[in-house]
Amino acid sequence: MLVREAKLKPFSSAAQFGALDEAIRTAQCVRNRCLKHWMENRGTSKNDLQRLCAVLAQDAEQPWMKKLNAHARQASAEKAWQSVANFYRRCKSGEKEKGFPKFKKHSRSVEYKVSGYKLSDDAQQIKFTDGFEAGSFDLWMDSDARRLIASSKLNRVRVVRRADGYYAQFCLDIERIEAGEYTGSVAGIDLGLKYFIKDSKGSEVECPKYYRKMQKRLRMAQRRLCKKFRRTKKGEKKQRQSSNYHKQRVVVGRIHLKIQRQRKDFALKTARCVVKSNDLVAYEDLNVAGLVRNSHLSKSISDAGWSTFRNWLEYYGKLWSKVVVAVNPAYTTQDCSGCGYRARKSLSTRTHSCSRCGLEMCRDENAALNILKKGMEKAGMEYQNSSEGHSQTGSRVVGTTTPTERTTGKMNTSGLLEQSNNLSVVAEPVRECSDAS
Ligand SMILES: [Zn+2]
Repeated sequence: MLVREAKLKPFSSAAQFGALDEAIRTAQCVRNRCLKHWMENRGTSKNDLQRLCAVLAQDAEQPWMKKLNAHARQASAEKAWQSVANFYRRCKSGEKEKGFPKFKKHSRSVEYKVSGYKLSDDAQQIKFTDGFEAGSFDLWMDSDARRLIASSKLNRVRVVRRADGYYAQFCLDIERIEAGEYTGSVAGIDLGLKYFIKDSKGSEVECPKYYRKMQKRLRMAQRRLCKKFRRTKKGEKKQRQSSNYHKQRVVVGRIHLKIQRQRKDFALKTARCVVKSNDLVAYEDLNVAGLVRNSHLSKSISDAGWSTFRNWLEYYGKLWSKVVVAVNPAYTTQDCSGCGYRARKSLSTRTHSCSRCGLEMCRDENAALNILKKGMEKAGMEYQNSSEGHSQTGSRVVGTTTPTERTTGKMNTSGLLEQSNNLSVVAEPVRECSDAS
């Protein structure tokens, strides 16, 4: 499945967006009714929810239910079931946070399956044909995406509301297939706050800190929003907010949207670059949700966007059939990558110097090497630091280099491609090694 997105431009008037809003609200209502049905009736199955959709459509008290396309109603029921199924799965696997399904209050999307819309043959326009009569929209997107959409089968069309407008997402019935290029190098990645990532070859990518950069603008916008807020006094009827308040609300929303997009773009490009230039990538399996609870670092950690980065690593690993492994982060900073000696260090100690073997290097790089070692063990490969030193099976890496010998180049988009130095490790399956000995 491939997803392509287009911005919707109304054909006649902005009132068309109002119709889309109604469709979104109705889809949310269907989802919530399905959830309620599940909560009230023990042993409700997925099929029961599907059948409930038809019943809801005949509901005389909620005549708008009928307006929504029948397939869109079913898609909402499927979504409701999805959250129930996820809850069951978490219960079964004994997870701590069960995540009981919740009612939606601020839904932003509605999903159509095969009907309820009509796409023009050249994919220039889309018309929504269900009871809300949203009418025709121009589709704004690049020509490649347009060609792809016009030529392939559509599985779903999702309408999404964002702070800067309405978008249509097209789920296409094609798989993305690309051949990966194999480079023969491997990398361990240490995620950090000073540097976004530092790899086992000493290359680094700095943290872009998008949120911190936008904070000033955001603060100003939020202050303006606050001033426009009408407070409800005790015993009064709840006040309606002014249209200026809502305008400002959109301004704040747009700033958040921009930060979100910047982060995604950065994470995607970095992950792509890392996976492209390595055959094996090992990273720390950090418990990001747990770390965010640390109130001193939570902003920096959220701003770094580690989770998104990891998801893209996994994605590109799958796409190019390369090995991407997550390893347990325990002791990766403390252990010496040369001899394995464990020495405690605090967060402020920036260099790793081993008291046993005398190895000195950057703390993050040492961690990256340890991560790589663990990752290769997990993938069933042997870890060595030079090609000639593999006469014995199970040989350990020997730290022969000092930091000054190493080139610590900054990573650009092709920076990781540089087969830099003698620290680069050679990946060989264990089996081959034992044959040689
Ligand atoms: Zn050591």
